Amino acid sequence: MGEPKESRLVPCGNGIMLDLENGIMYDQDGCGPFGVVDRYAAMGISRPDPATVCQGQCEGMGFVPTQFTKEEPWHTLWLNAELEKPSDDGWHFVKCPECGGTGKKP
Ligand SMILES: [Zn+2]
Repeated sequence: MGEPKESRLVPCGNGIMLDLENGIMYDQDGCGPFGVVDRYAAMGISRPDPATVCQGQCEGMGFVPTQFTKEEPWHTLWLNAELEKPSDDGWHFVKCPECGGTGKKP
């Protein structure tokens, strides 16, 4: 499974988009970056312990933002989330398949 190389911009409230790859925030017009943030601080969670942090794509957050993709398991996870509650912007935060949402090593 290839790691996506492009930046993943996800909305984090107040019209702010967060580039999860680089921890850079953009405003809603996309004319950022106007600030560099700690991605964990931006999401309001504490920085994970490297010894116990999940090795999956959630990187200790327990969930992974994903858009529609044909790549599994994200395709299935996205589809299930969409069936449950259709997304306004095409993004869903899905539970990390590695750690099951705990953000820790299984
Ligand atoms: Zn995980």
